[in-house]
Amino acid sequence: MGVSVPFVDLSVQHAPIEDEIERAIASVVERGDFVLGRALGEFEAAFARACGVEYGVGVACGTDAIALGLQACGIKAGDEVILPANTFIATLIGVLRSGATPVLVDCELDTAEIDLDAAERAIGPQTRGILPVHLYGQMVSPERLQQLAIAHNLVIFEDAAQAHLAEREGKKAGSVGLAGAFSFYPSKNLGGIGDGGMLVTGDREVAQKMRTLRNYGAPQKYRHVEIGTNSRLDTLQAAVLNVKLPHLPAWNRSRNAAASHYDRLLAPLRDLGIVPILNQSGTGHVYHLYVIRIDDRCPLDRQTLQDKLEAQGIQTGIHYPIPCHLQPGYRHLGYHPGQFPHAEQLCEQILSLPMYPGLDLPQIETVVEAIALAIS
Ligand SMILES: *Cc1c(COP(=O)(O)O)cnc(C)c1O
Repeated sequence: MGVSVPFVDLSVQHAPIEDEIERAIASVVERGDFVLGRALGEFEAAFARACGVEYGVGVACGTDAIALGLQACGIKAGDEVILPANTFIATLIGVLRSGATPVLVDCELDTAEIDLDAAERAIGPQTRGILPVHLYGQMVSPERLQQLAIAHNLVIFEDAAQAHLAEREGKKAGSVGLAGAFSFYPSKNLGGIGDGGMLVTGDREVAQKMRTLRNYGAPQKYRHVEIGTNSRLDTLQAAVLNVKLPHLPAWNRSRNAAASHYDRLLAPLRDLGIVPILNQSGTGHVYHLYVIRIDDRCPLDRQTLQDKLEAQGIQTGIHYPIPCHLQPGYRHLGYHPGQFPHAEQLCEQILSLPMYPGLDLPQIETVVEAIALAIS
């Protein structure tokens, strides 16, 4: 029986900065500026700069960053927004809550990213936006996105909730489109001590509109120019995120290095049906998740493999087991099984292996040896 390996271990990142986090929290409590306080402004500026854009607007969660962000970009009822069927449900919720009509499309099997050819075929007279999801920490090609958007006059809105500081073709996540949405859910590459989110944009008007929307639709106190909501990133969360942000590049490098070890050690198992999701962006991939596909050549089915690993104390996950178009709460959208074969196949085949900054080589060897033993 080997050593156990957790799926995520946040204590590795928090232990060395525990004192700093506590001091940051104490200073917010001392100042008492809990809502729209100083640390929020500081974090918004710092995170936007890290993403290579001018403005950041902190909100309560990533879902709100998408829902309000699309509105801030001028997307409204009657507009269609194209998004992939294989994403976390919050992407779809964000589109629906913006008032727009979601149009789901299939993904590529090897990269698990939105199929941009399928996206192009789905463009119609009402299509206003394309919403790429930088899934698992890998960006959708900025060049291909921009070609598509220019050819069809579309707004690009990035779901970068899994891709903090990811890069591809010289561009950073959140800087490709009109705006990008981030989540600071605790287990994301940059996570708070609770929920949080942010819209980043290079467009001053979009940023201004977003600030209004998150604050009761009020550009000034008690003057409500539209139906906004209450969705501000807590100053406490911002203070903690300010402490963590300088460490993010090193944490992302640690994830990318862990992924390289997995790639190398798993390579001999390819003929036995263990196929990592393809990395087309090298060190720009920030590996929020390390995902493999268990294909038909594998002598074991996924559930059995997962159970065998679990029995050895190796935690795995499935991101995600049901594609958006087949979720029970979304039948009214009118999609049917078989409509997006790649998304559906991925849901059946994928397995997420342990991944977090600080995951070390012996742990990765333990995971790969356990997989090799299970399927041999
Ligand atoms: C986490 C996540 C979200 C939502 O963020 P929350 O902060 O949980 O609301 C949206 N899209 C993707 C792809 C995510 O992984």
